[in-house]
Amino acid sequence: MGSYLFTNVRILDGSGAPAYPGEVLVQGNRISRVGGSGTGARLMPSSGAVVIDAAGATLMPGMTEAHTHFSWNNAATLDGIQVMPPEEHTLWVAHVARKYLEHGWTSCVGAAAAKPRLDIVIRNAINSGMLPGPRYLAASQEITVLGNLGDESLPHIQYPEYNFGAVVNGPEEMRKVVRTFLKYGVDSIKVNLSGDNILPDAPANTTWITDEEVAMAVKETKMRGKRVSVHARSCESIKMALRHGAEVIYHASYADEEALDMLEAQKHRIFVAPGLSVIVKLLYEGEPYGFSPQRARELGYEDELEAASRSLTAMHRRGIRVLPGGDYGFAWAPHWTNAMDLQYFVKYCGMTPMETIVAATRFGGQIMMMGNDLGLVQEGRLADLLLVDGDPVADLSILLDQKRLLAVMKDGVFYKEPAIRSARTGSLPGWNRTAA
Ligand SMILES: [Zn+2]
Repeated sequence: MGSYLFTNVRILDGSGAPAYPGEVLVQGNRISRVGGSGTGARLMPSSGAVVIDAAGATLMPGMTEAHTHFSWNNAATLDGIQVMPPEEHTLWVAHVARKYLEHGWTSCVGAAAAKPRLDIVIRNAINSGMLPGPRYLAASQEITVLGNLGDESLPHIQYPEYNFGAVVNGPEEMRKVVRTFLKYGVDSIKVNLSGDNILPDAPANTTWITDEEVAMAVKETKMRGKRVSVHARSCESIKMALRHGAEVIYHASYADEEALDMLEAQKHRIFVAPGLSVIVKLLYEGEPYGFSPQRARELGYEDELEAASRSLTAMHRRGIRVLPGGDYGFAWAPHWTNAMDLQYFVKYCGMTPMETIVAATRFGGQIMMMGNDLGLVQEGRLADLLLVDGDPVADLSILLDQKRLLAVMKDGVFYKEPAIRSARTGSLPGWNRTAA
C-alpha cells in the first residue's frame, strides 16, 4: 500500500453536502487529509505520494450494495440458479465478486446464497487476498418454510436437505438450520417471511412463517452476535420482523401506518433495502422472460409497485434508512446494473439524486457493521474511493457507465487504476501487481 495524493478533484463526500474542489491524501488504507482548494493552489505536500491529477473528476466514496446475491447467475428462474453445479458455481461467484468491485461497489451485503457455503468461501477468499472483491458480509441460504419462496422441492420425492432455500417447519427445525449456517461462519441469517409475486400461489402480500419460527431464528442468531435479515414484502411480515428484532428488512412493500410507526421507532437500528429491480423490470420489460405486461399485472407487480412506492416514500420522509441494492443477478436485471436503483429511488421513493448518493455511501458504510469507518470522504475514514468522470448528482446514469468510472480504490489499493495521473509517476501498484 502506498500514498496517493488526488489533486484537482471535486470531492463528493457522501455526507449530503454539495461537492467542492479540493485535494485528498490517502496514506495506507486510510484517508489521512482532505483539503478544499478553491484557489487552485496546492495545499498538501506531495513528497512520497503518487500524485493523481484528476482533471476535475469527482472523487466519491465507494458504494455499498445492500442486497447482493453473488451466486445468482443471471438465470430467469430460481431453478436455473439452483441447478448450476457447485464447481462452476464457485467460479461464477468469484467472477461476480471481482466485477462488482470494478463497477464501483466496494462493499456488498450478502442477502442469501444459492448453496450453503458459497457466500462464506468467497468472503474468506476476498479477505485473505486470494481473490479480488468488495468488502463482503456473507449470508446463509434463504431459510424458508414449506411452500414459500425458496422452497423448490417436491416433498413426495426424495430431495436434498437444502434445495434453493433451506426449508424448515417449526422452531426446532429452524434452530438446527440457523445453527448450521452459524457454524459455517455466516455474517447474517436470511429468513423468508412473506411470499413473492414470482410465485402465483404465494404472492407478495401473503405471510407464511409463524412468530415462533422467526423468534427462534432471531434468538439463535443474536446469541452468536450475528444479524438477521428478512425477505418481507407483506405488511404482516414487516411487523413480524420488527417485533422480533431483525435488522435488515428487504422489500418492505406493503407497510401500513402501524408498520411505518414501528419502522420509525426503530430507525436507528434497522435498514431497508427494497430491491425494486425485480418489480420494475418484470412489469415493464418482462416480455422476453415470459412476463407479458398482462401477466405481470395478474401476478400483482403493478399493485406491488404502487404500494412499495407509497411505503418507501413515507419511510424516506420519516428518516428511515433506505438503501440501494436488490436482487440483481436475474435475466431481467443482470449483475452490475445495480446503480439503476439510484434512479429508481428518485422515480419511486421521493429522493433527490443527492439523497440516493448518501444512501449508497454513508448509509452503505453504516450497514457494513464497521461503525463510521466507511462510506465518507473525510479524514480518518477507510480509503474506499471512486473517481468518476462527471457529476453523478447531475446525472445518476454516469454510475452505470464503466467508461465514466475512472478509478476504484478499496482499502487503499487500486482495483481499477486511473489513467489520468502525473506523467512522472509511471504506473500504479494496483491489486494485480501487489497481491501474491
Ligand atoms: Zn433477494
